[in-house]
Amino acid sequence: MATTIPKTMLAATVVEYNEPLELFKDIPVPTPQGSELLVKVKASSLCMSDIAGWMGHLGAPLPYCAGHEPVGIVVALGKDASSEFKIGDRVGFMPASRTCQNCAECTSGNHRYCDKRTNVGFDGPYGGFSEYALADPVSTVKIPEAIADDLAAPLLCAGVTAYGAVRKVTAHQPVGTAVNIIGCGGVGHIAIQYAVAMGYTVNACKSCAYV
Ligand SMILES: [Zn+2]
Ligand SMILES: [Zn+2]
Repeated sequence: MATTIPKTMLAATVVEYNEPLELFKDIPVPTPQGSELLVKVKASSLCMSDIAGWMGHLGAPLPYCAGHEPVGIVVALGKDASSEFKIGDRVGFMPASRTCQNCAECTSGNHRYCDKRTNVGFDGPYGGFSEYALADPVSTVKIPEAIADDLAAPLLCAGVTAYGAVRKVTAHQPVGTAVNIIGCGGVGHIAIQYAVAMGYTVNACKSCAYV
């Protein structure tokens, strides 16, 4: 299946904090390096961290293309890409990119804390809000056919956050017992669904005195 990849693309870009994003029309489509994947973005949800970045709370270097929960189709592979991903795969990916794979964080499975990483969606000219973006295979998963693009996208940040929290909380807890979830927003409402799917009952609190 031949895919024509344009030379330039649209990219919704944060040019100034707290100002409307600018839609640039001539951002070069990036070329995958090493094992990277070039992904044609189909959907990318809006995370509270996108808002925090836009407000300047994360120190994201301006200008940058936002969006860190992208889902799309692999359209090109770097020359060192493994056989794990191929052109046509539907994937989602998380921000950590170009990690060193040598430091203590990388070798312990925590590459998202690698000091050398770049953060797609907080750093550079492409992200979830551009037509194409580069995915690091270590931060990329295939998306099952049964999950639509727009429903899969929030799972790439809110979803993994909720999943990790529920797994840790329930690590030594018998299935069928109750899990307490405080906050039912973007992350919490997914945590509730994961906990129920894992066989737990849920006590959920949607507002808290300290908020
Ligand atoms: Zn590293
Ligand atoms: Zn996020």
